[in-house]
Amino acid sequence: ISFRKAQFLMSAPTLSQCPDDSGCEVAFAGRSNAGKSSAINALTNNAKLARTSKTPGRTQLLNFFSLTEQCRLVDLPGYGFAKVPKAMKKEWDQHLAEYLQRRQSLRGLVLLMDIRHPLQDYDWQMIRWASLSEMPVHILLTKADKLNNGPAKSVLLKVQRELQAAGFSEHVSLQTFSSLKKTGLEELETTLMQWLSA
Ligand code: GDP
Repeated sequence: ISFRKAQFLMSAPTLSQCPDDSGCEVAFAGRSNAGKSSAINALTNNAKLARTSKTPGRTQLLNFFSLTEQCRLVDLPGYGFAKVPKAMKKEWDQHLAEYLQRRQSLRGLVLLMDIRHPLQDYDWQMIRWASLSEMPVHILLTKADKLNNGPAKSVLLKVQRELQAAGFSEHVSLQTFSSLKKTGLEELETTLMQWLSA
């Protein structure tokens, strides 16, 4: 698998419109502005891919990128947009929960959080949903370049402790990450390769 070869495959508004549920995939989620597009860019070395998912109107969809014939990356919509009507948010929540719980080919969830604002409500919700199906979650504490090494490490440990206290340590791993400085890329790739080759 080469992440550099990722290609846009399709967008899907609901589970029934996703590509065939065969092979394997990993999904990326995070609050809007957490740095998801930048991270996908850094991973795939392709600025066009992430832009695809930022096209207005596509923001509520799952965007699929093929890595190989059998493996895919999935870009889930950024959360925390201003002014999404409540009814729409509710409907989207259902699609997302359904995707996380029913998708057989889904091997793991990469959850991005700005290192300066970790573990917000939405993040807990994603962790809860994933844990319902024992889905592994790998957290990226993004924009780590905004902090010095010491403080960045403290946040990492604090988040780790909070996850442990909430009973989520078993299926959750975490690391610091910076798309800007390209730090943490190898660690992310290692996790993804483990999931996709398992
Ligand atoms: P998304 O909404 O989650 O896709 O977030 P983006 O990838 O578009 O990033 C949101 C903002 O954070 C943009 O202004 C990026 O330039 C900035 N950003 C993303 N990653 C990094 C990073 O690693 N370091 C810093 N300093 N800024 C970043």
